[in-house]
Amino acid sequence: MEMFCRQCEQTAMGKGCTKMGVCGKTAETAALQDLLVYALKGLAVVGKQARENGVRDELADHFLMAGLFATVTNVDFDNARLAALIQEAVAKRERVKSLLQASSTAGKQAEQWPEIAQWNPAGSLEALIGQGAEHGILKDYSAHEDVRSLQELFLYGLKGMAAYADHAWILGEKNEEVTAFFYKGLTALTDTALSADAWVGLVMEQGMVNLKCMEMLDAGHTRHYGHPVPTAVALGVKKGPAIVVSGHDLLDLEMLLQQTDGSGVNIYTHGEMLPAHGYPQLKKYKHLAGHFGTAWQNQQKEFDGVPAAFLFTTNCIQKPQGSYVDRVFTTGMVAWPGVPHIVADRSGKKDFTAVIKKAQALGGLAQDAMRKQIVVGFARQAVLGVADKVVAAVKAGQLKHFFLVGGCDGAKPGRNYYTEFAQNVPQDCAILTLACGKFRFNDQDFGDIGGIPRLLDCGQCNDAYSAIVIASELAKAFNCGVNDLPLSLVLSWYEQKAVCILITLLALGIRNIRIGPSLPAFITPNILKVLVEKFNIMPISTPEADLKAILKK
Ligand code: SF4
Repeated sequence: MEMFCRQCEQTAMGKGCTKMGVCGKTAETAALQDLLVYALKGLAVVGKQARENGVRDELADHFLMAGLFATVTNVDFDNARLAALIQEAVAKRERVKSLLQASSTAGKQAEQWPEIAQWNPAGSLEALIGQGAEHGILKDYSAHEDVRSLQELFLYGLKGMAAYADHAWILGEKNEEVTAFFYKGLTALTDTALSADAWVGLVMEQGMVNLKCMEMLDAGHTRHYGHPVPTAVALGVKKGPAIVVSGHDLLDLEMLLQQTDGSGVNIYTHGEMLPAHGYPQLKKYKHLAGHFGTAWQNQQKEFDGVPAAFLFTTNCIQKPQGSYVDRVFTTGMVAWPGVPHIVADRSGKKDFTAVIKKAQALGGLAQDAMRKQIVVGFARQAVLGVADKVVAAVKAGQLKHFFLVGGCDGAKPGRNYYTEFAQNVPQDCAILTLACGKFRFNDQDFGDIGGIPRLLDCGQCNDAYSAIVIASELAKAFNCGVNDLPLSLVLSWYEQKAVCILITLLALGIRNIRIGPSLPAFITPNILKVLVEKFNIMPISTPEADLKAILKK
């Protein structure tokens, strides 16, 4: 069976995965994900019409976000769960139709709905895969490659935003502008008549809506857990039973910390969970014992033979290896076939007893193995708390330039650029970092400039919001625009959350961004030309050449 997917940076040959995903996604899974996106577009078409007639359905609102999140790279590899999501999307579509028809301002009659809002999913998994094979990037989108390029940029950005909106929703944060945009955006993707100019406008609009979405998630995190404070985190493990929590979902981590309090089981963060240590309401748990492992893409090697339970709350999961698959659990939208999945009850509570029992049954780690400590928690409040020192250091010529070196990490070669870049940043410059790309260099000692650490870790990828606030506030302090600050953005991208952040930065008018390790396969030469002309976006070259070019300005 053939597939076609090029939504992430590691796509095969830099062109597209056609037989099997480099991420491990099979052609069957790809077909089901394509069908799920098609089903969500049908739900959006009906939901948009319903909303225009004053009919809203919060269950459908959240499902649009969660469903799109399931199709993000390294999230859901479980065909049975994807099939259930497709059936649910269609059931929700029909429910919204009946709500609309029952309302006093009844909308279209059934026969007026387009095919995308009328089709029915097959009953068997095999037949659903067959239906999915009829959909996807090469079938449902424009035949004009530049228009399709913009449609893909938009769709992948929407998927990334859906992940953030889903996290925020679970934390009780909702924003009507963000919710409505999922309906608008998915419906737009069914409109074959939209021009390239119209798509450019929609992409820029998405960038600003995603800023609201990241702000909403920031509010969810800080309201629940307080503003991050600089915190030393032990890299490594302590003797005793252990659960390693991967992904981005702080609410899952909090519930697990509560359920293990006093149990003797230590909890470790992994990957993008690292910033959790900086939040006052999470760091108060003494058994949040440290951070396990390095970058997410090393998980197969680093989990091998470790007597700990592993809980994946969001991307990025890789195929669990035989030596540890019996101790892996998933929750939220992440899933792997055959791996136990923890579901929330109707109130959102999750029972992690199975994970805890597994950690206890494994007996735990035989001895302490701590490497060193690093400091996290330099989100917007912590950095802006020393803004006067920063401004004074810049004015005194002690601090010459800031580099935002961040973004998401991947397994492909070529990513050493970011390590070397960070290492080569001159001593009178500081590095702001966020997301998982930092695991290439965040355990190195960068020292400080007059008490200001040279490496400031702002947090997860969604904490790009913090970095944007920091840059805006510094621009105000220097009475200039963000593009006039001594600040350069050197970003790495991997999956769709990085796409929506990049779109937001462009929508904010931020120029001169360097991006790597390679440009997206879905960006055509003509669209790249537009991005270069409008934003002077450029691919990374070598650390030495890029640093030289930036600092000579
Ligand atoms: S998500 Fe990335 S690696 Fe996986 S199939 Fe798609 S392009 Fe390939």
